[in-house]
Amino acid sequence: MTDSLIERKRQFLVPSVSTYYQQPLIMDHGRGCYLYDVDGVEYLDFFGGILTVSVGHANATVNAAVCDQLSKMSHVSTLYVNEPMVELAERLAKLTPGDLQMSFFTSSGTEANETAIAMARIATGHHEIVALRHSYSGRSALAMSLTGQSNWRMGLAGVPGIVHARNPYYFRSQTHLSEEEFAKECAKDLEETILTATSGRIAAVIVEPIQGVGGFITPPDLYFAEIAEIAHKYGGLLIADEVQTGFGRTGKWFGIEHSGVKPDLMTFAKGMANGIPIGATIATKEVGEKYTGATISTFGGNPVTMRAALATLDVIESENLVGNALVQGNRLRNGLEVLQKKYPIIGDVRGKGLMQAMEFVRGEKEPAADLVNEFFEYTKEERLLIGKGGLYSNAVRIAPPLIVQAEQVEDALERLDRALAKVYERHPEL
Ligand code: PMP
Repeated sequence: MTDSLIERKRQFLVPSVSTYYQQPLIMDHGRGCYLYDVDGVEYLDFFGGILTVSVGHANATVNAAVCDQLSKMSHVSTLYVNEPMVELAERLAKLTPGDLQMSFFTSSGTEANETAIAMARIATGHHEIVALRHSYSGRSALAMSLTGQSNWRMGLAGVPGIVHARNPYYFRSQTHLSEEEFAKECAKDLEETILTATSGRIAAVIVEPIQGVGGFITPPDLYFAEIAEIAHKYGGLLIADEVQTGFGRTGKWFGIEHSGVKPDLMTFAKGMANGIPIGATIATKEVGEKYTGATISTFGGNPVTMRAALATLDVIESENLVGNALVQGNRLRNGLEVLQKKYPIIGDVRGKGLMQAMEFVRGEKEPAADLVNEFFEYTKEERLLIGKGGLYSNAVRIAPPLIVQAEQVEDALERLDRALAKVYERHPEL
């Protein structure tokens, strides 16, 4: 059955629906931090459906809220008001930093970013956008163009009006400067990009507090204050894309909060509703009020989705999962740093909270994507699920559900250790 399903998948889904591992895994069900394949084999899930299953697989509180709402009314559209939508918007306004107040709901992170860009353009009357190299914003034509990695553009040309500034990727910077000084240089590069590659008036600068798909590249906190000031200086707004970093992942409610910067717009998706498709854009009152034109997202504000998100937030709050992300994230980070000392192919360890990455290299930081691929087969043997990333496909991304416990972190570290040992066994030259 396994082989025939994989064959049917090849036949009926386009090849861009790609999978991990030489022999893809077919998952059947999940519980908490574990997934089970169709043969009942248990996997420790340290990627959570790409940072999405934040409060665990088959979470009882979220499922109860979804079932209750389904039994009442599954859909209504925004032509009528539904209470869960208003409640969630009000809750986001309270949770988010600064003066963010007015929300628009969609079904994905791509749409959330599309909405943020439209809001910024309408509010400022400007058109051009500055994004960062190595960023990822989604899969629409606009979002692919914002994305600072050609391997996620499918060979398609981008839309005009977007420029990319240098990102503070310290590990690959080849600089003699300190990390903070280098980040300041990157902020200067962003200003120079505006001055040299745009009309000089921008609608927005869009950034991820930690670049997710880019391989968890983590700029120093001071970078964000610098670029917020530059965005405003040239008439633009600061958009924080919190699709990966939002809702506790980094050990604070939102990734940008580590820097103290208060963005003009924020976007969310993924972990916000524990796996039920959602996207959201929140703006300051001043920006949000200008978004007046006719537009509708059929599933945006869907009451089932809204209930799933409200229940997810309830669980994060009642179980103090933001605090847990910090504590278990530090445990994970310390363990990865121990592995780094043992295995020199781990060139860099970076991230915040439960969003930690390792970058695999050979010699003088040569990206080692082949070793990541081998390592992945070994982690599969160890029944540990993790993610890949990075422009050079040599980053390993680790991001378990926020409910993860100390024993599971220790268990995952042991599995990673054994998988790394297997890579070294196969490559005595390393
Ligand atoms: N922004 C970021 C930072 C993301 O990581 C992603 C998804 N990987 C998106 C936007 C797009 O979200 P979606 O896949 O839900 O459209």
